[in-house]
Amino acid sequence: MSKSIMEITWEELDAIDKEKAVIFIIFAPIEQHGKHLPLGVDVFESKYWEQKVIKLLEDEFNDYEFLVMPPVTFGYGNMSDFPGNLYLKQTTIKTVAYEIIENIVNWGIKNIVIISGHAEPKHLIAIEEACEEINTKYGVVAFSPMGAIFSNKELGLNIKHHHEIEKLFKQYSNDFHAGWIETSNMLDIEESLVKTNYIEQPDIDVNPQDMIFPEKVLKKIRGFGHIGYPKIASSKIGKLLNDGMVKILFKAIRAFIRRNNYQKYEHHFLYDNPILKTSNKGVK
Ligand SMILES: [Zn+2]
Repeated sequence: MSKSIMEITWEELDAIDKEKAVIFIIFAPIEQHGKHLPLGVDVFESKYWEQKVIKLLEDEFNDYEFLVMPPVTFGYGNMSDFPGNLYLKQTTIKTVAYEIIENIVNWGIKNIVIISGHAEPKHLIAIEEACEEINTKYGVVAFSPMGAIFSNKELGLNIKHHHEIEKLFKQYSNDFHAGWIETSNMLDIEESLVKTNYIEQPDIDVNPQDMIFPEKVLKKIRGFGHIGYPKIASSKIGKLLNDGMVKILFKAIRAFIRRNNYQKYEHHFLYDNPILKTSNKGVK
């Protein structure tokens, strides 16, 4: 059973074997998710994956303690024009991530894992930069595998999905936001939070190359908010997707805890692109 950091005393925290403790932090913004999904989708997804992966890890590492931080519910994003977004500047995300992680390092914990259901590259890269700086200063303690997981194809990580999911990925590939993927995930996680009007939402197709141009994206999604194909969503697809995500996360975090071949999960495939770094002067 994982423990919330908010429910234990400092003495209980102090008594934990820090070498055998893993702490999870969710970093995912409150953000518009179309007319059919709630603002907290990325947080709900992250929480669900976190809880499921901790269960698997507890079986594998039965002498370890698993702790969870309350979710950090803001992030970097560019879908402005919609009420409900909680965005901070990319540089702020990096600073906040760095400072939170540094506090935890000072508690003595040696395994700090960041989970994010928010696939925006600049959000994930900011967190990865924070982890890299922490790891350079303190030795390897922080790990943020979501950038690599979201870009596993480009990285050639060879992650196998269920054949039904592979088929959908091919057929409905440009499903970037609140489309069939996230709607299905939420139908599996908490159906009561999905409005039944998801079956009435139009297909909104944005080319992957256009995703880096916020004006182009906003023009297409105005009045709706999603990018993709919500109407084909189902809880059955969601279960396959969520199970798949938990399996990949388990593999990555297990590798990190063992410090064995985890480096391939450390960075988004665009990590080395200077335009997407917080050091890019044009970036806010
Ligand atoms: Zn989302």
